Amino acid sequence: HYLENTESLKQNLPQTRNIFLTDENIFRLYPDFFAGQETIVIPAGEESKSLSALEIISRKLVDLDADRKTVLTGVGGGVITDFTGFIASVFMRGLPFGFVPTSLLAMVDAAIGGKNGVNLGIYKNMLGAIRQPGFILISPEFLNSLPEEEWSNGFAEIIKYGCILDASLFDFLEEKNIEFFRKNPSETQKIIRVCTEWKTRIVQQDEHEHGIRKLLNFGHTLGHALEKKQELPHGAAISIGMVLAARISEKITGLHPEFSDRLERVLIRYRFPDRSEFLTHEVMQILKKDKKRSGEKIAFILLEKPGKAEIHALDWMVIEEALEEFSILPKGNGK
Ligand code: ADP
Ligand code: ZN
Repeated sequence: HYLENTESLKQNLPQTRNIFLTDENIFRLYPDFFAGQETIVIPAGEESKSLSALEIISRKLVDLDADRKTVLTGVGGGVITDFTGFIASVFMRGLPFGFVPTSLLAMVDAAIGGKNGVNLGIYKNMLGAIRQPGFILISPEFLNSLPEEEWSNGFAEIIKYGCILDASLFDFLEEKNIEFFRKNPSETQKIIRVCTEWKTRIVQQDEHEHGIRKLLNFGHTLGHALEKKQELPHGAAISIGMVLAARISEKITGLHPEFSDRLERVLIRYRFPDRSEFLTHEVMQILKKDKKRSGEKIAFILLEKPGKAEIHALDWMVIEEALEEFSILPKGNGK
């Protein structure tokens, strides 16, 4: 559901007892939204998706006398939506829950699909369950306060939809930039709608990721490794992963190299690291640390043409060779 502003959004919340879960940033930025509402506030950031936070919040829910009919509504970015979905899945064996995503990334990706979870130390989303929210309410008004870097993070996923599913979305993004979308909320709303429709369709077909949903992992295999080891923002990490996957596609599926060039350019337009920072030895090191994986095959999402992706079982060697070849480093460097 799309609502013009945060006020009309509030009117669309369930009329039963509702407890908000949000982070300190959102709570501070939107005092009117939370005024007079029962709200649990947690620190912002990935560290909050932890088992210890789960215990603290569960105790708060007990203190608040939450029962099985109490609705838990997560208001925030992907951390909040993942966490809300998880706690609502396990607290008293399940509470009704819904989301008010406030980051672009959560609107187009994290809030949809029912994947929720908490981290176990460095292991991201190690504990989780698939359970769909009862409602998702989106108001672009929240984006007014979204920091620049978070716009980029959201656009990485939007560009991903363009690559794997929607060539015309890709063409459109190519002509625009972050400033354009910041200034034109109705255009932003349009692309949010396009992306949520794509994701919803895919999740409906393959909720448990046995098939087509895997395509959404385009750029994420390498991206997750970079994110964990280099502490890059998710969007920057997957943008590197997407370029690499496109380059590998040239060899395996015959993707036209021109598309990989376009992808690099569009990513830079949305403020991701450019080629000189892309495939450096850091990436090589991460792959080499994965020694135990060498020789093994890995399911890798490749592009066949703009807007069309497929799954391939690739040998790690192919990935390593591609990194070498497309690296700006002289051949053999970093070996
Ligand atoms: P994600 O990028 O997956 O949505 P987070 O939940 O960590 O991840 O959100 C990223 C950061 O952006 C957090 O610090 C969060 O507090 C902040 N944030 C989310 N939505 C907004 C918003 N509308 N305005 C300002 N900051 C926001
Ligand atoms: Zn992602």
